[in-house]
Amino acid sequence: MPSVTVDGKRLWERLMLLSRHGARTDGGVDRQALSDAEIAARAELAGWARAAGLSPFTDHAANLFLRLEGTEPGLPPVLAGSHIDSQPTGGKFDGALGVLAALEAVESIKAAGPTPRRSIEVVAWMNEEGSRFAPGMMGSAVYSGARKLSDIMQVTDPGGKRAGEEIARVLKADRDIPKRPLGRPATAYIEIHIEQGPILEREGKTIGIVTGIQGKRTFRVTVTGEENHAGTSPRAARKDALAAAVAIIKALQDAFWDKDDIIRFTIGRMIVEPNAPSVVPAKAEFSIDLRHPEAEELCRLGDLIEPLAQANRGPCDVGVRQLLHDPPLTFPVEIRDMLSAVAAKMGYSAMPIASGAGHDARYLHYFCPTGMIFAPCEAGISHHPAESIAPSDATAATNVLAEALLRLASSL
Ligand SMILES: [Zn+2]
Repeated sequence: MPSVTVDGKRLWERLMLLSRHGARTDGGVDRQALSDAEIAARAELAGWARAAGLSPFTDHAANLFLRLEGTEPGLPPVLAGSHIDSQPTGGKFDGALGVLAALEAVESIKAAGPTPRRSIEVVAWMNEEGSRFAPGMMGSAVYSGARKLSDIMQVTDPGGKRAGEEIARVLKADRDIPKRPLGRPATAYIEIHIEQGPILEREGKTIGIVTGIQGKRTFRVTVTGEENHAGTSPRAARKDALAAAVAIIKALQDAFWDKDDIIRFTIGRMIVEPNAPSVVPAKAEFSIDLRHPEAEELCRLGDLIEPLAQANRGPCDVGVRQLLHDPPLTFPVEIRDMLSAVAAKMGYSAMPIASGAGHDARYLHYFCPTGMIFAPCEAGISHHPAESIAPSDATAATNVLAEALLRLASSL
């Protein structure tokens, strides 16, 4: 089995170069999906790929692939990547590390020779973050068949632009990049991502072998009351939607309080109408994000929301709508064992770790054998301009990825 060592300096330089597209003055990155900044980043990626002898192509969901052709081009390729879109207040590494590490790994494999049997494709999935077009992981969901292309085309951003229009604009801007069909079979998918948590740093480990992704349910709760004058309407007669929402939220927070901190329960958004200082609120709508690593417990907890909302609505009406139910998943043991073996062979300290956040690997998991490698990030900070990683950790994760890709691409 040939082995391969990546160029950590080149990887780091590219991370810094890519972060110019959508650079914020505070050192962060604002490169939202299907934006001009992302178009420029795609062009730069395609240029690096061509210079390295890889062929860029795309698909109808504007996922971007960079292909190293294997000696048997008809075999399903091995995929590796992540995303290059960011949150509006994002950092330089969330997503970008996974894509640029895959490019570095494949470029190093090609330079080391001989050409592997299976093709290897670097992929940048369209709209992972979902900050502009929600929900995210659009490109990987469509590629793997979990969502329909026609559905995501209709999603609009806060400015009213449809994703379909913006996908067409991005595809038009891609210079001489051919299109291939969605959902081509794959041999395997490996994604490097920053941990976005403090565990690897705390444990002093270089490589996280991701065991799986915790489950997630999201809801929209709408409380409807009656608009009235803040000075003249007697309190006993009011139908105050915000007061009812507060009572419901208190009941939910009590029910989901977990001293072991395994249940993750968040209300991150509330819209009050008419949202005027001297008017009794007529409507209060809020979001719920509920996560748990066990499928049964996630079901049980999520099913408590509607009855608790009804029991605490007071004189108002309440409606609970579930928007998403992604069960927890466990990556296949064969992939995890292989990644652990590679890390051990290279002398890197590694540990199994669960992912609290969703990733494109969630959808690929149901499509082909999938695994993830986490790299430590400073103080666990992400989705923030201060996001930071050590160059040596990025190199280590990329070395493990390169060896893993080489093994998968050489497999029978
Ligand atoms: Zn990410």
